[in-house]
Amino acid sequence: MSHSDSIPENAPLLPEQRAALMQLMQELKPDQLLWLEGYISGLRVSRGDAPVSTTAAVKAPSLTILYGSESGNSESLADQSAKVAKQRGFKPKVINMSDTTPAKLKDVGNLLVLVSTWGEGDPPETATDFCSALMGETAPQFASTNYSVLGLGDTSYEHFCKMGKDIDARLEALGANRVFARKDCDVDFDSDFEEWLDGSLSALLKLQPEAATSAVVSPAAPTQTAVKYSRKNPFPASLKERVLLNGRGSSKETIHLEFDLEGSGLVYEAGDALAVVPRNASDVVEALLAAAKADGATEVTLKDGTFTLREALVRHLDITVLSKPVISRYNEFAQSKELDEILNDKERLNSYIEGREVVDLLSDYPAPKLDAQGLVGILRKLPPRLYSIASSPKAHEDEVHLTVGVVRYESHGRARKGVCSTYLADLLESGEKADVFVTPNKHFKPPTDPSTPMIMVGPGTGIAPFRAFVEERAAIDAKGKNWLIFGDQHYLTDFLYQTEWQDYLKDGVLTRLDLAFSRDQAEKIYVQDRMKENAAEIYKWLQDGANFYVCGDASRMAHDVDRALHEIVAEQGGHDEEAAAAYIKQLKTDKRYLRDVY
Ligand code: NDP
Repeated sequence: MSHSDSIPENAPLLPEQRAALMQLMQELKPDQLLWLEGYISGLRVSRGDAPVSTTAAVKAPSLTILYGSESGNSESLADQSAKVAKQRGFKPKVINMSDTTPAKLKDVGNLLVLVSTWGEGDPPETATDFCSALMGETAPQFASTNYSVLGLGDTSYEHFCKMGKDIDARLEALGANRVFARKDCDVDFDSDFEEWLDGSLSALLKLQPEAATSAVVSPAAPTQTAVKYSRKNPFPASLKERVLLNGRGSSKETIHLEFDLEGSGLVYEAGDALAVVPRNASDVVEALLAAAKADGATEVTLKDGTFTLREALVRHLDITVLSKPVISRYNEFAQSKELDEILNDKERLNSYIEGREVVDLLSDYPAPKLDAQGLVGILRKLPPRLYSIASSPKAHEDEVHLTVGVVRYESHGRARKGVCSTYLADLLESGEKADVFVTPNKHFKPPTDPSTPMIMVGPGTGIAPFRAFVEERAAIDAKGKNWLIFGDQHYLTDFLYQTEWQDYLKDGVLTRLDLAFSRDQAEKIYVQDRMKENAAEIYKWLQDGANFYVCGDASRMAHDVDRALHEIVAEQGGHDEEAAAAYIKQLKTDKRYLRDVY
C-alpha cells in the first residue's frame, strides 16, 4: 500500500515533515490508518484548532456511495465509507439503490458501489429495480464515471458475490473506469472492506485535480472518550432471562431471550437486528478434533493472535459450514482424486455439501498430512448471527429481547445443531455474557406517522419485530390501527406471546388478530389463507394507507404471502394481473410494503 502520492508537493509541511509523514503512511496498515484519522480529528477539537475554511471544503471532490443492502451490512459499510471519505477530503453522498436509477447516476463522476448478494445470486430486494435497469438494454453510458465495487456475500452459497461481480462488469461495459479492483467479501468482511476502501479512495484521490485534494482538510469529529461498542468491538451483554415459548409436546423450540444493555451505549430501534457472536459447542469441537486426529492443546496462529487449537475452534472459527472454498483448501492436504472430481462437478458438489459439515469431510476423506495450523487455515472466521429484535427500547429501557428458533436435526447419521441458536439455548447460562452488537435496518420500521395503520404478517419467529412494533406503538400511544396475522403449528403449544397479544387486543392497541395454526386440523391453514379469507378488509386497509409488513421464512412463506397479496389486490380492486402488480410495486416504491425475511 502506498500513500506517498496522496501527499502533494505543495502541502503545508516542511520537507522533513513531508518525508517523515510519507514514510509513516507507507508503513501503516488500513486499520491503523483509520484509527489515526479519527485520532487526529479528535485532537484538533480538543486543541481548539481553527475550523476548516469553507472555501477549502467547497473544493472537496464529490463522491457517490451507492449501496444495495439486504440485512443492513452494505448500508452500514456505506455509512462508514462516507465517514472515512470525508476525512480523506471527499464530499460523500450515500444513496440506497432503492432510491435512485442508473440514469440519475450516470454523471456523478466518482462512484463507490457496495452490494450484497441474496439467495440464488439475486440482488437485495430493495435493489431489484435498480439492478434490472442497469443490466437492461436501455441502461445509460457511464463514460465519465470512476468507480470501484465491493461485493458482500457468503462463500457457502454457490453464487458467491454474484451481484458485485455483475455490477462491476456492467459498469465497465457501459464505459466506466474501474479505479480499483473489486473485492468480494465473505461474512467476515472487516479487513477486506478496509483494504478496498483505502485502495479505492487513494485511487480516486489520485485522479482529482491537485487544488481540490491539497486544499481539503477533514472537518473535525467529536472526541470520543467512552468505549464505543460495534461490530469490531461487540458488547458483552449479560443474559437476564430465557424462556421457552412453546408448551410441552410441541415439535418447535422457540426461546425468548432478554439481554442487559446497561452501560453499553448501544442504541436500537424497533425493526433493527441484534448480531450475536456465538461459540461452538464443545461436543462439536471435540468431534472435529477427533476426526482431525489433532491435539486441542497445540498452539495455532490466527489473524487475531495465538490460541490453543481448542480455543480457536470454540471461539474464532466456523467449524461447521461446508463450502467449495473450504473443501478445496482441505484437498490441498487430503489430495483426494474423488474430492477433486466432486469439486469440478457442480451437481455432485451440491449433493455432497447437502446436510454435511466440516467433520464429515475430515472423516470421509482423511488427510494424514493435516496439522493443527493446516486445519485452522482451511476454516473461515466464525460469523455473527443476526436476529430481528423483539423489543422496543421505549418499552424496555437498557434491554434487548430476541425470539430465536432453536435448530436441531439429524443428517447423514449425525445429530446436528444450529451454532448460534443452540449457543443461546444450551451454552449461555443466565447471568453469563454474550458478545452482541446492533445492526440497524433503516427500512424495516413502524410507520413514521403514528396514525398510519399497519398490517403485520409474521408466522413462527417472524413474530419478533412485530412484538417490537406493537410495543413501540403502545409506548407512544400511536393512534394508527394495528392488525397482526400470526401462524404456527398448534394453538395450544405454539401461540408465541399469546397473553401479550390477548392483552393488546383487550386494550385496543391491537385492532385485529388473525391466527393460522397449520396443524390443528387435517388441512394446512397458513397466514396467507387468513389473508384471503379477509381479502376485502386487507384491501380496504391498503386503500386507507396501511403499511404491509412481512417477516419470517423467505424460502416459501414470503413468496406465498406475496402471491396472496397480488390475488387480493387483483380481485378486490378489479385489476388485471398487470395492474395488480403495478399497485404492489407502487406500495414498495412508497415504502409501504416492507419485508424482513430470512
Ligand atoms: P416456520 O416458518 O417454520 O413455521 C411457522 C408456521 O408457518 C408453521 O405453522 C408452518 O406450518 C407455516 N408454514 C410453512 N410453510 C408455509 C408457507 N409456505 N406459507 C405460510 N406458512 C407456512 O417458523 P420458524 O419460526 O420455525 O422458522 C422461520 C424461518 O426461520 C424458517 O425459514 C426457518 O428455516 C428459519 N429458521 C432459521 C433459524 C436459524 O438459522 N438459526 C432458526 C429457526 C428458524 P407447517 O410447519 O405446519 O407447514
